[in-house]
Amino acid sequence: MTRTAIVTGAARGIGAATAKRLASDGHAVAVLDLDEASCADTVAAIEDAGGRAIAVGADVADAAAVQSAVDRIAAELGAPTILVNNAGIIRDNLLFKMTEDDWDAVLTVHLRGAFLMCRAVQKHQVDAGWGRVVNLSSTSALGNRGQANYAAAKAGMQGFTKTLALELGRYGVTANAIAPGFIVTDMTRATAERIGVGFDDFVAHAAKEIPVGRAGEPDDIAAAASFFCSEEAGFISGQVLYVAGGPRA
Ligand code: NAP
Repeated sequence: MTRTAIVTGAARGIGAATAKRLASDGHAVAVLDLDEASCADTVAAIEDAGGRAIAVGADVADAAAVQSAVDRIAAELGAPTILVNNAGIIRDNLLFKMTEDDWDAVLTVHLRGAFLMCRAVQKHQVDAGWGRVVNLSSTSALGNRGQANYAAAKAGMQGFTKTLALELGRYGVTANAIAPGFIVTDMTRATAERIGVGFDDFVAHAAKEIPVGRAGEPDDIAAAASFFCSEEAGFISGQVLYVAGGPRA
């Protein structure tokens, strides 16, 4: 069945791969990112493959922008019942060097952003009696040196997801979290730059620690998101799936 999906942070990386995958699953997709123009490549790729998509510019942490984006998506693509909260940033630093701005920026985009998006979309899901929410957590939720802000946000995403599952289950809405390990995107490229390591060496070093012997790709996460958003996943809710090439807990 064709649904309308929103993927946040979908201009590039994991979000772009997920938007393309949900479009190939047959859904109309709102490709949402901070800057509408930056969504053009993802939208063009979906349309070239025969899918339906629109570009939407919004800051997920801005309540008014989120509400008007969701209203526009409902009007142009139909009521959104699939939501992938993927938009994210990093501001890594050891605790003693971490600024309040570093802390607030990361908590705001990940947690406030996911909250505002879910609050605006749930009305359409409840009205439809069907919905899927997928929230991007991270293996960093288990703790990661230099990422006190990000680890707190990504652990928060897991508690938020489980609460959504409890509150929205009776309306046919499932909520699950995906916790990726090392995925090759601009985000990991930025980390390599910050610590002064070439990206190829950084990826190769990461791959050595991963049981399946390679780094993850955005499509690895898109495949998991596609499954959680499928009709047949309706009895799976409140779960955290580590997609990391090996076990995590
Ligand atoms: P990415 O390549 O940096 O892409 C993130 C996207 O989110 C960018 O297009 C960015 O836009 C957008 N964004 C940032 N702030 C936003 C806001 N306030 N409103 C709307 N859009 C915003 O990151 P990625 O690696 O694909 O990561 C995607 C998600 O997976 C994130 O939640 C990340 O924490 C999570 N994750 C990634 C990894 C990994 O190894 N890559 C591992 C675990 C979890 P701009 O370009 O304009 O800033």
